[in-house]
Amino acid sequence: MRRLLLIPLLLVPLVGGPAAPTLASSTGPTATGYGGAVTSVDPTATAVGLDVLRRGGNAVDAAVAVAATLGVTEPFSAGIGGGGFFVYYDARSGKVSTLDGRETAPQSMTSTAFVDPATGQPYAFQEARVSGISAGVPGTLATWDTALRRWGKRSLATNLRPASEVARRGFTVDQTFATQVSDNKSAFAQFTPTAALFLPGGQPPAVGSTLRNPDLAATYDLVARRGIDAFYGGEVGRDIVTAVQHPPVAANPSVPWQYQIRPGGMTLADLRAYEVRRPEPTHMVYRGYDVYGMATPSSGGSTVGEALNILERSDLGRLDGTQALHRYLEASALAFADRNRYVGDYTPRPLLESLLTNDFAASRACRIDPLHAATKPVPPGVPGASCATTAGGATADFGKSTTNLTVADKWGNVVEYTLTIEQIGGNGIVVPGRGFLLNNELTDFNFTNTQAPADDPNLPAPGKRPRSSMAPTIVLQHGRPFLALGSPGGSTIITTVLQILINRIDLGMTLPQALAAPRATQRNTAAVVAEPAFISGPGVALGTLGHTFTPMAEIGAATAIEFLPRGKLLACAEPVRRGTGSAGTVH
Ligand code: GLU
Repeated sequence: MRRLLLIPLLLVPLVGGPAAPTLASSTGPTATGYGGAVTSVDPTATAVGLDVLRRGGNAVDAAVAVAATLGVTEPFSAGIGGGGFFVYYDARSGKVSTLDGRETAPQSMTSTAFVDPATGQPYAFQEARVSGISAGVPGTLATWDTALRRWGKRSLATNLRPASEVARRGFTVDQTFATQVSDNKSAFAQFTPTAALFLPGGQPPAVGSTLRNPDLAATYDLVARRGIDAFYGGEVGRDIVTAVQHPPVAANPSVPWQYQIRPGGMTLADLRAYEVRRPEPTHMVYRGYDVYGMATPSSGGSTVGEALNILERSDLGRLDGTQALHRYLEASALAFADRNRYVGDYTPRPLLESLLTNDFAASRACRIDPLHAATKPVPPGVPGASCATTAGGATADFGKSTTNLTVADKWGNVVEYTLTIEQIGGNGIVVPGRGFLLNNELTDFNFTNTQAPADDPNLPAPGKRPRSSMAPTIVLQHGRPFLALGSPGGSTIITTVLQILINRIDLGMTLPQALAAPRATQRNTAAVVAEPAFISGPGVALGTLGHTFTPMAEIGAATAIEFLPRGKLLACAEPVRRGTGSAGTVH
């Protein structure tokens, strides 16, 4: 999304080897080639990843280097103040593994943390977001460290170096960056370090200007020297805790803020206790492809998988386009009803897996009427029952933060990684002197019970991780990679991944076409949220079946790699959304 910059960065050796000026061949949203591939939203990050691959790093090294660079150039979507989910295909063992680096609630968190004690009512979203309460213990640095120790070839220090260089030398501000600051101006203005970094002179940085972040460069360098303990309990950790417990509010903010800014309860002990989990991926088979996704606390793997399982009961490729999309929308609504009812951090694994069984899919698919869209919200199903339902409600968030990257190396290893600080701009608090924003991930908990009279699986609790929709997905065919993909977009992530999969597998599209196609998202809400081109295109015929639409300018910002015969790679990013992404191959 940002124009390529910092040529000097790429003249220095990033991971050893000769200092060849290997300015990456990544310039556009689609690339075909050999020897490894990288795709992300940002050309600088993609160039860094390709350079790591060219210099002998593997997919995990490159993924960490890309993610660290995105922490500089995409600081409002992701960074070391946040968390994410890392999915890895290991070519040697043929196994897919996952890392859960989700932010975690501090021990002080209660189930009513987002209810105002003065009124008994839940806080307004922005009041909850821009606070210390919303910040979960970050998992991103621990994820990088764990991934590199298990599967990388290079150290964390080596893989942080390119990003540190970008932060120190600066990068060119583009329209997306300036708009994201502008959209957050009042929140950012409330905090002295945030305003100093992102509102120079009280205004968003000008498009075309150079933004430097020496504090973040120094933080990366400190972690490179001392390891992640500097963060999880050391001096960076102390600064995080101080910022959460005593938000660095500006004495005279240049823009007003209508809410009280509330402190949170994260402690150094919470940071010290942080653990990256290694859950088994979710797995299901769709038309002969093995689809691996992220298990709880993400609902990505189970919801994409359940919807695919429902859709497998229709021959989408032979139906006319309207019927295929009708079933996509209805299957998605059904899967979201079940997600909302059953999926949270503490969902027992057998229950999660029961949502992915063929029997359960059959009991849900029978509720799709080919001639009429169901009235939404549809109630959740009951695993083990036939075509039965229980009562329940629905919620749908409209996030559009987060970032996604896909990397493959010459050995055949693949990384699909989605990382986030939740809203664009996280909780708005830059940790003083450290150059990164904190997340507001804990607002992904439901503030009050959405499933009454049943229990809500996604209420806050001490040490719990909020439910996510991030859905990094790796698809194998006969045990070999076929496709790796993921996207940002809050709960629309699930439908974006689902829609790309059926576009590619069932509806005869190439991968670039599958990403470019207009998107629609039905998350069990009265109206389908859809891009204008979807509403004026297939939406017209879908309207005759009873679907109604609410426009949204754009949905998601996917990246994907398809593995073609004889080692050829097709790397894709968005051709238009989020200012276009950047894909490249090693050669
Ligand atoms: N917090 C969201 C999640 O984990 C992602 C935020 C977004 O993509 O907007 O599902």
